[in-house]
Amino acid sequence: MSKMIEKPKEMHRKKPNLESYEETCKGFRWEDFHDEIEWFEDGKLNAAYNAVDRHARTRRKNKVALYWEGKNGASEEYSFSGLRDLSNKFANVLRRYGVGKGDRVFIFLPRIPELYLSFLGAIKVGAIAGALFAAFGPEALKDRLLDSGAKILVTNSELKHRVYEIRDELPELERMIIVGEVAEGEVSYEKEMEEASRDFDVERMHPEDPLFVLYTSGTTGKPKGVVHAHYAILQEHLTAKWVLDLHEDDVFWCTADPGWVTGIAYGILGSLSNGISLVVYEGRFSPEKWYSIIEKYHVTVWYTAPTAIRMLAGAGEALPQKYDLSSLRYLCSVGEPLNPEMVYWGLKAFGLPFHDNWWQTETGGILIANYPSVPIKPGSMGKPFPGIKAGIVDDEGNELPVGKEGNLAIKTPWPSMMREIWRNPEKYKSYFKGDWYVTGDLARMDEDDYFWFVGRADDVIKTSGERVGPFEVESALVRHPAVVEAGVIGKPDPIRGEIIKAFIVLKKGYEPSGELEEDIKKFVKEHLAGHAYPKEIEFVKSLPKTQSGKIVRRLLKARELGLPAGDTSTLGK
Ligand code: ATP
Ligand code: MG
Repeated sequence: MSKMIEKPKEMHRKKPNLESYEETCKGFRWEDFHDEIEWFEDGKLNAAYNAVDRHARTRRKNKVALYWEGKNGASEEYSFSGLRDLSNKFANVLRRYGVGKGDRVFIFLPRIPELYLSFLGAIKVGAIAGALFAAFGPEALKDRLLDSGAKILVTNSELKHRVYEIRDELPELERMIIVGEVAEGEVSYEKEMEEASRDFDVERMHPEDPLFVLYTSGTTGKPKGVVHAHYAILQEHLTAKWVLDLHEDDVFWCTADPGWVTGIAYGILGSLSNGISLVVYEGRFSPEKWYSIIEKYHVTVWYTAPTAIRMLAGAGEALPQKYDLSSLRYLCSVGEPLNPEMVYWGLKAFGLPFHDNWWQTETGGILIANYPSVPIKPGSMGKPFPGIKAGIVDDEGNELPVGKEGNLAIKTPWPSMMREIWRNPEKYKSYFKGDWYVTGDLARMDEDDYFWFVGRADDVIKTSGERVGPFEVESALVRHPAVVEAGVIGKPDPIRGEIIKAFIVLKKGYEPSGELEEDIKKFVKEHLAGHAYPKEIEFVKSLPKTQSGKIVRRLLKARELGLPAGDTSTLGK
């Protein structure tokens, strides 16, 4: 479990921004890094101005800030000054429609340039920006638009019909701005932009003023509207610099959609703040396309998710060899536990390990991470970011000793900590126990201060008096040569309390059989533990996932027990 891997030579092409983790942690104070971001003279700031405009005033003004590749092969480039001017224009459009500080402006668009421009424009005018994943249907949209009380919605001619279905049920929604073809009486994005000035006096925001509201992924239940403040940009900037190791000349591809927090904090704000070039690909996942994006744009730093990594691994090691991926120098993963096997697969396929990091919509930025200058223990999420105190606590909030499993908790506050749950103060309060923020995840810490994810508190299995985290069983399963992915649940059992049941997706070329089932059980018994192997296995074509790609174990369980599915608004198809 505590095996460390050496960093390959390729990774040393650049000196890590965080040279010494230990040294930096000593006496770390966020205030000492305030100069990393841009402040107005009056102590105010604006996260969008910080991400874009401050670079547009320097020699970086003509540098490409955004490389965009459309789903049908079109491509566009935007410089920092281009992003500044166009987001200024959109801020003017919003101001003309009476949008001011604190109003909610939501964007419901595919990953097209207008999504980025309007998101930045909304922040510049002082609005609370929100993004909605383009695959959402009317119910998911209604939940979020109604709860947030959005005043303006930016969408396009393809997606607008889904909003019209629920339009009458959204009393606070004043206006829709439509990208693309418009009908009589609709507001055209293009026309408004054409008429708007490119000069805009950016709203100066108090560090505690709200910046964006984003709904969680809905893995465990109904999504919550998490509100972040402008001060979050400090942490988003610094974590992008030290965890994602962004250097000015990096070409950075964050594969997350801005409908999820990773796509905002690192897919827009924290990364641009470091003056890098972003890559955005509009289309869906496909191994061939993804490798070709890396090749075409010479991506150097790649931030993606375990679900994608498992799918790439499932497509084989020969495929990446067909592309020139030599530009890659640093790989990161977030969103779900990263099976150790996938760290090794990165080494095999790209000569680089994936660096896992952990955070949540509520934490607003990376809190626990692997760093370029710190050895990786495959299967561990890494160590707390400098300035972050993470602990393992019992249900009363008492800290537990090294090695003990318990609630992963973070000492409050930190700059990107959520400031409220929108219109739900009770829910907000429920996250805290004394001065700990309790994450809802279970973990343990080892003797070297590495954190190990066990499972979500709701997903942990109690079998024959033992607690088993689904993650370690799933990780053992994906080591088996026939297995692409696995979802593991506890199934009620009169004798053992629960038994472990695994739902398994097989690699191409493998067929379900009793023999294979026995072989997989034996494999887990040998590699993990006698008590933690799945007594039941079901082969499935796919696992239920959120739109952001997370395995939804609560749904596997509900199906197994014939219970209602609960909130399914964020599930993929
Ligand atoms: P909801 O809160 O609505 O159920 P969610 O928790 O999936 O949805 P997010 O905020 O997008 O919504 O995800 C945060 C969660 O994702 C974490 O609490 C954790 O369970 C999981 N997670 C994120 N990164 C990692 C990681 N590196 N290792 C293990 N789990 C991770
Ligand atoms: Mg959550």
